[in-house]
Amino acid sequence: MDNRKLASFYAAMGELLGGRGWSTDPSDLAAHGRDWLDRYGHPPLGVARPASTGEVAAVVRLCGEHRVTITPQGGNTGLNGGSVLNDGQVGIVLSLARMNRILAIDPVGLTATVEAGVVLGALHDELAGHGLALPLHLGAEGSARIGGLIGTNAGGSHAMRHGMMQDLVLGMEVVLPDGEVWDGARALIKDNAGYQLRKLFCGAEGTLGVVTRAVLRLSPLPIAYATALLALPDLEAALRVGAFFRARTGDLLTAIEFFGEIGLALALKHVEGLDRLIDTPGPTYLLVELATSVPDIALDTILENALAAALEDGTVLDGVMAASKAQRASLWRLREEMPEGQRLEGVQIKHDVSVPVARLAAFIDEASRAAERVLPGVRINPFGHLGDGNVHFNLSPAEGSRDFAGRDQQLSEAIYDVVTRHNGSMAAEHGLGQAKVALADGFRSPVERALMRGIKAALDPRSVMNPGKVV
Ligand SMILES: Cc1cc2nc3c(=O)[nH]c(=O)nc-3n(C[C@H](O)[C@H](O)[C@H](O)COP(=O)(O)OP(=O)(O)OC[C@H]3O[C@@H](n4cnc5c(N)ncnc54)[C@H](O)[C@@H]3O)c2cc1C
Repeated sequence: MDNRKLASFYAAMGELLGGRGWSTDPSDLAAHGRDWLDRYGHPPLGVARPASTGEVAAVVRLCGEHRVTITPQGGNTGLNGGSVLNDGQVGIVLSLARMNRILAIDPVGLTATVEAGVVLGALHDELAGHGLALPLHLGAEGSARIGGLIGTNAGGSHAMRHGMMQDLVLGMEVVLPDGEVWDGARALIKDNAGYQLRKLFCGAEGTLGVVTRAVLRLSPLPIAYATALLALPDLEAALRVGAFFRARTGDLLTAIEFFGEIGLALALKHVEGLDRLIDTPGPTYLLVELATSVPDIALDTILENALAAALEDGTVLDGVMAASKAQRASLWRLREEMPEGQRLEGVQIKHDVSVPVARLAAFIDEASRAAERVLPGVRINPFGHLGDGNVHFNLSPAEGSRDFAGRDQQLSEAIYDVVTRHNGSMAAEHGLGQAKVALADGFRSPVERALMRGIKAALDPRSVMNPGKVV
């Protein structure tokens, strides 16, 4: 874009949004120009912070006229560079940070209507005061915003019971790439009057429009929890125990998370204030949690009985139950600090994949052997959500090595190859962003590739919205 056109674009944006809504301040451009892990992005032309749907629509139209691309941004906690500009992209970041009002909470219909810039943690706090909850929990909930959670179709540790973001969004309002507003913010569980348009925007990573408002499906707030950490001989046993707990505890079971000895050792080595909490070595560990919103349910007894039965038949080697709120938090920290422990160890390669639950152990076994063949001694740290088949299959260099001896790509290819053989997905939770878009395209069948490109072309023929992501 030449200087004259750029000056006219800046002037128009300034006039449209004013000082609070439009910034070209270098510190703002730097802060919004890089992703959470500081791996992707470069400074945008400016950061737009509209305060209403009308302003978002006006920004989208103005950018369209000036051929300036738009990258929507929520909390910027995405892990694959979806919320920042690609190399060579000329565009703005459109931050939803000022559209952060909780518009309505309906305790009868169990819904909340919110602007897309609401931070998940703030929504949790507000809902708790009403005895309600949005059952979506993830490590970044203090920063991630509703629009971003929709954009990546976030999952988290409760997806097994409550589904992903797409299952929690009943309706939404979206500013489309031509500046038109689609008002689909309906609070309906049953709505079959045509294509399920709202689902199209879940996981679209801002490539089809800007979500400005959402109607979310709530649950009663849990009032009691029972949590245990179990040590198991292997992942096959973990799968059997997972199925056993599901059968024994039914809908009370909200999370079954797994991790291994390598991950635990890294977390204990690097993260302050962590305690091992279980004496018996695994090498596989399960974090199991029951929750209820119903008073007078003896959750501890239900969990204790299930655990006793699993200990008796020898599938579980050892188990520790949380006796207090503080102990529950400590057990969860062991699981939640897995990524941090590995990050602090040094370079790593992450793979966020999923396979059908019953294949999880076979997948991890085969993928581990495949990685070991490429680079003997590579440290394999699989952890994740046993209940929904999502594995963070992360690698650290062999003990004493600083890197992967230039075999990073070979390692990933070997692992994704095993994912494909197990009919899994190479992107379970974090979307594709700019990190995985080319890779994902390679895994698509010609039919699927054409469908995806057709959808993008139909909604955004000029490729104004977050180009270079998803397709
Ligand atoms: C410590 C940590 C733990 C995490 N744990 C999990 C986890 O357990 N499960 C999980 O799924 N993710 C997890 N994540 C990843 C991340 O938090 C999620 O992907 C989250 O959904 C991103 O929300 P955000 O508001 O930060 O979005 P951003 O990073 O700002 O954006 C993400 C994508 O959504 C698009 N977008 C943003 N706002 C809008 C909008 N209004 N309309 C349309 N598109 C929009 C962006 O363009 C981008 O493509 C974790 C991240 C961190 C740092």
